[in-house]
Amino acid sequence: MKAVRLMQLGKALEDAQIAVPEIGASEVLVRVGACGICHSDAHYRAGISSIDSLPVTPGHEVAGRVETVGEQVTHVSPGDRVCIHYLVSCGACDFCLRGNEQFCAKAQMIGKHRDGGYAEFIAVPGRNVFALPGETSFEQGAIMMCSSATALHALNKARLKPGESVAIFGFGGLGFSALQLARAFDCGQIYVVEINPAKLATAVALGAVPIDATAGVPVQQILDATSGKGVDVAIELVGSAATMQQAVRCLAVQGRAAMVALSRESVSVLPYPDLINKEAEVIGVSDHLASELPVLMDLVRKGKLCFPEGTLRFVPLDAAQINAALDAVENSSCQRTPRDNFGADHIRTVIVPRGTN
Ligand SMILES: [Zn+2]
Ligand SMILES: [Zn+2]
Repeated sequence: MKAVRLMQLGKALEDAQIAVPEIGASEVLVRVGACGICHSDAHYRAGISSIDSLPVTPGHEVAGRVETVGEQVTHVSPGDRVCIHYLVSCGACDFCLRGNEQFCAKAQMIGKHRDGGYAEFIAVPGRNVFALPGETSFEQGAIMMCSSATALHALNKARLKPGESVAIFGFGGLGFSALQLARAFDCGQIYVVEINPAKLATAVALGAVPIDATAGVPVQQILDATSGKGVDVAIELVGSAATMQQAVRCLAVQGRAAMVALSRESVSVLPYPDLINKEAEVIGVSDHLASELPVLMDLVRKGKLCFPEGTLRFVPLDAAQINAALDAVENSSCQRTPRDNFGADHIRTVIVPRGTN
């Protein structure tokens, strides 16, 4: 089969012909219908994230059609449309058994520790395969598997309840999903903190109150807009010390700040006014869970979560075009948004190998 592979860190991906993977009794072979190109793929190519075994086929945002199943797999059959949870965990350790598989010490990320979706076929354990609603395209299904799933996990970790107000710091792909998901959960007013006018305009079109961080201190703007109360939930997707501090300081009494984006800077908060006196909580958010994907798929099926026309761009399974897309991701990157960068207009590029749909 055809695959586009990372042969050497720091070098361009290459076209390759490799054997179609063989599957074990508990595994599924999926014919890739779409695979999202993610910012972390550019990190792998650049050698920023260490990868032990090369060559590897990148791609962790995958949807497609079941080709064959191992004899122990009963929940999907050949021909089914599916999407793939990107973390292959052991399924047997304490973390896996409690449904917190993102902490599994043996977990392998597809497209990093094992071959991913920049290929015609991918083999994964059956438990990583989830039915994709009939109305949902492979392209939409694929890109939900990373940023949308993590946005959902952030809202779950923050324990968002109906009617509660939300501030979203940073409006890239994660923020785009977080806003739609928060609305799907009947939240109260949503505030989007951004410096990019185009992103603020998109947030307004989706019903949020824009907080232009270039126009004044965001915390004060949020307090002014909430009669001094602050918000119940803050979702931090930027990854700077300044916005992390703002996410804590804009909280209402018993508010929760969910920290998603990465930063190497330390963040200072004042214990009494920022935390103790409000019983505020700061919550780390790591990745997402397989158990959250059916919820996500249901919201997609109901039309409550979508990436509209014009936000997706397609390329074939071709190394030159994929490398160019990764270059574009790198060039649009900035230090502010290490995990949440899909370019200024939420454009995501999706690989569509021919002949699957
Ligand atoms: Zn991703
Ligand atoms: Zn495990």
